[in-house]
Amino acid sequence: MMAMTVGEHGRFPELSERELAELNARFERAPASSVIEWAVEQFHPYLCLTASMTDALVVDLAVRVEPSIEVVFIDTGYHFAETLETLDVVRRRYGLNLRVMTVPTPPVELWSAGPERCCSEAKVAELDRALVGKLAWMSGVRRADSFARRTTPIVEHQRGRVKVNPIAGWSDADVAGYIAAHDVPVNPLRDQGFPSIGCRPCTQAVAAGADPRSGRWPGREKTECGMHTATSSARPRRDRHPVLTEKVPA
Ligand code: SF4
Repeated sequence: MMAMTVGEHGRFPELSERELAELNARFERAPASSVIEWAVEQFHPYLCLTASMTDALVVDLAVRVEPSIEVVFIDTGYHFAETLETLDVVRRRYGLNLRVMTVPTPPVELWSAGPERCCSEAKVAELDRALVGKLAWMSGVRRADSFARRTTPIVEHQRGRVKVNPIAGWSDADVAGYIAAHDVPVNPLRDQGFPSIGCRPCTQAVAAGADPRSGRWPGREKTECGMHTATSSARPRRDRHPVLTEKVPA
């Protein structure tokens, strides 16, 4: 393992700015599978992959490198039925080491408290809980997803850990090509005008050619749930919401 210093949280690895720059320069020219191989070599089994089930592209890439990698799906309780069906299809297809972080319906629906609080307490807090004990995590975030994600590095620090975005530089055409070539499961909503799929109350279909993220939180300034931004909560909020529980399906 490459030498890493202890991070600001006291026990997590932290790459120096120079190491980050060198890794990002190297990985810009490398296939995504090589990035994942590096992450697995460095951090597995203290590494997980978050998946939204818009498609299973990064899952497909990751399990080819390490079939036992932990895949985390955050079930907010507000997902489309199609997303949960896709989760089941993907779990069966790949025999995933799947961890579902479940937010049971609270006495008052989180959604009624507004999207900032809802995302923070349903998504971000569950992510932080999923990351307990992990040194690093991976995601399928891409620069082409949105303006806000246009500078996404391949390796960075986020949520007190090393975060790896193996397909940060992939175009929409790259994604479509890989999905077609490898028969990767895709959420059926993708073909119904939903290029970016979040929770049911906050996601609308968009017109062809429109900003793919414009269907998320329509009519609001909000463009990110907070899971992939450095400014959101870096610590679990379970203490404030004791109803939050975890379900690991058989
Ligand atoms: S996307 Fe909407 S429903 Fe889902 S957690 Fe965020 S605010 Fe809540």
